[in-house]
Amino acid sequence: MSRREFSPTVYAAIVKRATTDDHQIVCEGCGLVLGKKAWHIDHTIPDAMMIDKSRKLTAAEGKLLGVECCHAPKTKIDQGNIAKAKAVEAKDLGIKRSKQSFPRPPKQAKASNKIPVPPPRQLFEKRTQT
Ligand SMILES: [Zn+2]
Repeated sequence: MSRREFSPTVYAAIVKRATTDDHQIVCEGCGLVLGKKAWHIDHTIPDAMMIDKSRKLTAAEGKLLGVECCHAPKTKIDQGNIAKAKAVEAKDLGIKRSKQSFPRPPKQAKASNKIPVPPPRQLFEKRTQT
């Protein structure tokens, strides 16, 4: 599986988009001014999730993210999504059979799930002796 990279033109377009008028590079994830901090052009949609890989990436599909503030956590989420997408795909193709599970006991009637309501308690007992 090859991961498409942004062409230099698109890359430059994303950087330009993330650069303010006073030449500050801003994180497109949270708006933090990155200054000398490391940043990375991230795929807005994880490439592994894309169906059509022949199409060229556009600037709209990339985001300039600060490595510390946004890129690292997002990558972690993406990995999970990719794994999930792959699992679903495998299931669709019938590669992975769903686990055989034990037959579940029939659902109990709602009424029996209810906690029996105790009869109202008498808080004050009538004094029989005076
Ligand atoms: Zn950020």
